[in-house]
Amino acid sequence: MLKTFLSLLLALSLAFSSKLVATTYPVYYPLKYIAGGLHSVDLLIKSQADPHEYELTPKDMKKLADANLVFSLGLENWEKYLLTELPRGKLVFLNQGIGLIKYGNFPDPHVWLSPKRYMLVVKNINSTLINFDPAYRSHYEDKYNSYVQKLKELDREYENTLKNCQHRIIVTTHRAWDYLAKDYNLKTISLMGVHAEEEPKPSQIKLIIQTIRHEGIKYIFAEIGQDEKVANFIASQTGAKVLFLNSSLFPQEPSDDYFSIMERNLRSLKEGLQCHSRK
Ligand SMILES: [Zn+2]
Repeated sequence: MLKTFLSLLLALSLAFSSKLVATTYPVYYPLKYIAGGLHSVDLLIKSQADPHEYELTPKDMKKLADANLVFSLGLENWEKYLLTELPRGKLVFLNQGIGLIKYGNFPDPHVWLSPKRYMLVVKNINSTLINFDPAYRSHYEDKYNSYVQKLKELDREYENTLKNCQHRIIVTTHRAWDYLAKDYNLKTISLMGVHAEEEPKPSQIKLIIQTIRHEGIKYIFAEIGQDEKVANFIASQTGAKVLFLNSSLFPQEPSDDYFSIMERNLRSLKEGLQCHSRK
């Protein structure tokens, strides 16, 4: 009798639990945190592959077809392509109300690198879950509130650390930090565009070398997991040192999440921009 009851209970809980898929790490971390206790939460791109130039495989398409709901920022071309492939209502884009930076017709996808903007993404995740599953509203609200609390603390830490820096220009290889720069009163200059595998133009290399010399910049930033050749060349020409940033939020350690990676990025920025926190 008890056994039958237990298996009935298990069957019921499985019936209620849904398959949620996040396309990339910046969406996966908060989705897992907010909905993980109730639903299975999976990630589409688990490799360190460049999320901007990702090519969907038949296996990916199967995973997306099996999901109840797919969460995506909707700012990459391959994410927009999914609109035509997945049934209406299954795919959710989380970029509403974020105030996107655009280069021509193309939005900059890196909204997660500014904790201020990222709060809006997490808000969109929460309201999507509540619409999808209103019975668990209070569960989602509780989890969401504690996530946002941590994000607010991180935002304050970014504000305080990046307020008093000797340099205000972030020299990077990959153009990923414009949202951060806009929200924390910094500037960026990048070797390559948003699509990291582009070849840098010689004129851009020259401009960057001039800027580093003119501003007396001591550090430049390369991307973890991407080719450092050009960064090393610029370093050799200017005497600047190379530091690393993680823009895709790919976990460098198994326990990594949004907060641990963004803390590491902040330490790198603090060193590179020569910031001195005042108490
Ligand atoms: Zn990027």
